[in-house]
Amino acid sequence: MTLNLYDTMSRAKRPFVPKDPGRVTLYVCGPTVYNYAHIGNFRPVVVFDLLFRVLRDLYGEAAVLYAANVTDVDDKINKKAAEEGVPISVISNRYLDAYNADAAALGALPPTFQPRVTETMDAITAMIGDLIGHNSAYAAEGHVLFDTQAFGDYGKLSGRAMDEMIAGARVDVAPYKRHPADFVLWKPSKAGEPAWESPWGPGRPGWHIECTAMIERALGLPIDIHGGGIDLVFPHHENELAQGVCSGHGGREYASVWMHNGFLNMGEEKMSKSLGNVALAHDLRKQYPGEAIRWALLAGHYRQPLEWTGELIGQAKSALDRLYRALDDSERFLAGVPTAARASGGEHRGAVQAYDAVVAALHDDLNTPVAFAGLFQLSDHLRSATMGKDVAGVERSRALLLEAAQLMGFLGAQPSAWFQGGADDTLKTKVEALIADRQTARTEKNWPEADRIRAELNALNVEVMDGPSGATWRIKEQA
Ligand code: AMP
Ligand code: ZN
Repeated sequence: MTLNLYDTMSRAKRPFVPKDPGRVTLYVCGPTVYNYAHIGNFRPVVVFDLLFRVLRDLYGEAAVLYAANVTDVDDKINKKAAEEGVPISVISNRYLDAYNADAAALGALPPTFQPRVTETMDAITAMIGDLIGHNSAYAAEGHVLFDTQAFGDYGKLSGRAMDEMIAGARVDVAPYKRHPADFVLWKPSKAGEPAWESPWGPGRPGWHIECTAMIERALGLPIDIHGGGIDLVFPHHENELAQGVCSGHGGREYASVWMHNGFLNMGEEKMSKSLGNVALAHDLRKQYPGEAIRWALLAGHYRQPLEWTGELIGQAKSALDRLYRALDDSERFLAGVPTAARASGGEHRGAVQAYDAVVAALHDDLNTPVAFAGLFQLSDHLRSATMGKDVAGVERSRALLLEAAQLMGFLGAQPSAWFQGGADDTLKTKVEALIADRQTARTEKNWPEADRIRAELNALNVEVMDGPSGATWRIKEQA
């Protein structure tokens, strides 16, 4: 099956052909770590994690190299470090740890590489040197600037004309610039700011060169897929591309496919720290399971804007409840079937077709809404096989549901843990004690007491299911 991906550069959906199927490379621009990241920052994390999983499924786990960088040199990090009177690494490590914990809670696999700017300084200065050597950059007054006039394709990725780019980039019109669109590769640090040695004096790099050098170092140029949020097309990715091509690394190509996710909005506006309309992943995951947040972020197609609402996350939770419930009921049914009676066999074409539909949707430019519909079809097959006591049908559709869902990063929990996840520890202890008391009452054939306890559990919104290996429980389905 062919994987088709929409490419921002060619403005079309195209079949994905890696340069080397044994070494597929993906790079995604990551966070600046100076504070807790908001849930909008995790849209690219979840979207490109899904792509990473699909690529691993197609080419094999060892063949896919995914680098997602961390920007740990930045004015905002400097400011926070100065306020707290600590080195910048204290701030960046603190928020990088929080970011990685949030990403893991949202089911994102760790990227193969997580390069950091502070650890890439030598590659950054070497690349700036190469750009000067190729007459694509010039030093002026302690700065090094990229010479946009030296790159004929400048503006091709974003499709912008030069005057638009000058206005859009809001670049400083500094006297040392040859052209207003020229952008900074190296700049002197101000007094008290962190500085690194370079042939142009102590200073620090511009944002764009950092990514190009981190890609070169982690993956080598050119790469197969470059991703990030839509806000990065210009100037960030346009500038990365110009640097990559003009430095002579990787020849005329920088990335074969450019992919950009749409914004996560809050109300009418993009969720962003500067607007203050943010929900933090760090807070949300105290309220909702990580899988539900992941589902919500994938509920719309990744290129479309998505509005973050209470309803969106509520629907995501219910959708997962539906899948986990089908799984839970099927497991309970299978637990009562003697192993000898478990026969595989039968075609179960409906379930196989639903599974194929999930994979086909993912291969169609990560069409998650259609893939979700396929997961529901699979869970419906599982439910009807369970109700019809069709052992082989249950086993087949259960395996297909798990495989399809886990390809997307879902159904990683045990159903019991999922349904009891909504219960706090006090409730769990109370329920377990009531179930034990009920068991004693039943052993003593004290039926009124057993019924009274069941009613008490019912009032706690807990459903008790008696099975061959004792009683289990779950929080009841919401009406
Ligand atoms: P930043 O820390 O703002 O540089 O953003 C890190 C990543 O998150 C980049 O790929 C951004 O494009 C992306 N991003 C930031 N805000 C949003 C948003 N509201 N919706 C979707 N992606 C976003
Ligand atoms: Zn970048």
